[in-house]
Amino acid sequence: MSASDTITRLVRDIADFPEPGVLFKDITPLLADAAGFAEVVEALAEPYRGQVDVVLGIEARGFILAAPVALALGVGFVPVRKPGKLPHETTEISYDLEYGSETLQLHTDAIGAGSRVLVVDDVLATGGTARAAVDLVERAGGTIAAVAVLMELSFLPGREVLGDVPLHVLHTF
Ligand code: AMP
Repeated sequence: MSASDTITRLVRDIADFPEPGVLFKDITPLLADAAGFAEVVEALAEPYRGQVDVVLGIEARGFILAAPVALALGVGFVPVRKPGKLPHETTEISYDLEYGSETLQLHTDAIGAGSRVLVVDDVLATGGTARAAVDLVERAGGTIAAVAVLMELSFLPGREVLGDVPLHVLHTF
């Protein structure tokens, strides 16, 4: 069984959540399955063994995946969070969503100059969130090894929004 098959089997579609017209990819059945969870964490981490200095997770579902990926790679974990959550000095970036905008913050001392960073999230959709995380890392002097996600929604422009950034996708819808 491949990680792609496991995602097909254990990620659940929820129609019209959190708003009408969105088909939400619910990863909670995958997280609840010990073998499936371990398989996708290993598949996210495996290409980057010895290649990265830190794994960055995007609030909130990104945290659940990025922390075990960091442990699997033997490197540290760094959170990117919504405004007002990180207690120390932060740098921030705002980006447009379909309706309205979003802001993400990173601790200014979280990424060392020249650090090789793996960005982890659950879903790549429009790409705005991953792009914002990449820009925060680069602004902090880090180098992006890749953006790694469980799922890419290929009918949305996430891949184009990331441009030259290497992308590691376990399953494409
Ligand atoms: P994006 O549009 O790529 O910026 O995605 C925004 C955030 O929402 C990402 O962190 C994704 O994890 C999440 N997301 C976007 N679309 C979906 C979806 N259809 N199902 C579950 N999560 C989603």
